[in-house]
Amino acid sequence: MKYDVCIIGSGAGAGPIAYELCLAGYKVLILEKGGFYQKEDFFKDEVAVCRRSTFTPRLDLE
Ligand SMILES: Cc1cc2nc3c(=O)[nH]c(=O)nc-3n(C[C@H](O)[C@H](O)[C@H](O)COP(=O)(O)OP(=O)(O)OC[C@H]3O[C@@H](n4cnc5c(N)ncnc54)[C@H](O)[C@@H]3O)c2cc1C
Repeated sequence: MKYDVCIIGSGAGAGPIAYELCLAGYKVLILEKGGFYQKEDFFKDEVAVCRRSTFTPRLDLE
């Protein structure tokens, strides 16, 4: 199969670009090294996210 565009990585930058290109009628190939996440893999609970250590690291461990 032939494509018009090949995008390496499907992150926050490439995702919207790929979406717009597809809407414009281009055939887009995305090569992503990470997992193939589904809608169920994400959640929108901001309180729970803020409780994660990623956002509230224990400064005494730095
Ligand atoms: C914990 C955390 C929270 C954040 N919260 C916010 C927020 O609330 N608001 C906000 O605006 N920004 C936030 N950011 C920043 C935001 O995530 C980044 O600015 C944005 O993701 C950068 O986009 P990008 O497309 O450059 O890279 P990325 O989104 O990192 O995408 C790069 C993609 O390329 C893939 N890739 C890399 N190498 C290869 C390869 N060799 N072959 C194939 N695929 C490859 C990666 O797997 C990845 O999917 C947060 C970042 C982190 C880490």
